[in-house]
Amino acid sequence: MARYTEAVCRLCRREGQKLFLKGERCYTEKCGINRRQYAPGQHGQGRKKMSEYGLQLREKQKARRFYGVLESQFRKYFDMANKKAGVTGENLLSILESRLDNVVYRLGFGTSRPEARQLVTHGHFTINGKKVDIPSYLVKPGEVISIKEKSRGSEKIKSVLDSTSSKAVPKWLDLDRNTLSAKVISLAARDDIDLQLEEHLIVELYSK
Ligand code: SF4
Repeated sequence: MARYTEAVCRLCRREGQKLFLKGERCYTEKCGINRRQYAPGQHGQGRKKMSEYGLQLREKQKARRFYGVLESQFRKYFDMANKKAGVTGENLLSILESRLDNVVYRLGFGTSRPEARQLVTHGHFTINGKKVDIPSYLVKPGEVISIKEKSRGSEKIKSVLDSTSSKAVPKWLDLDRNTLSAKVISLAARDDIDLQLEEHLIVELYSK
């Protein structure tokens, strides 16, 4: 499981955009990006122009941090994306979007990806009726993700659902709020993904 030793808001400030790592706080004035719009550290306010390699590295780190994936796993996803037909950068994002922890977050069953990951590992979800507690599980079209019957009454789940009740769900997922389950209609396309990223720079980085 991905672990960070520095405060998570520093990661957003380093990448210069919101990565939505802290749930509700990310949508308030308290968001670290709103309060300090420069990179963290001693030289954060006086950065020099970045090299080509620096730009490529930053885009890779941004994607990794957005989805909460460690380097080795990210590299595996890149290799998978590279083997698939189509545009490698877009394939990579589509694979990252299909991680179960991301899907749980997209459905509003978690207020942030880190929280969604924790809820998955605590066994609150099923896929096609079977418990799945692996955050990196990659969902497939046709599968149905549900909050476990037993978990629906939990205070934690109720409070998450309250705070995400008005959240928009991407069109590749069909959520039924009455049954607290959702069907995967298709894999996410690039324009379904709200991350500002130049994914071709990641492809260039790994293709050296
Ligand atoms: Fe990033 Fe959320 Fe912190 Fe804002 S509050 S800087 S979006 S983790």
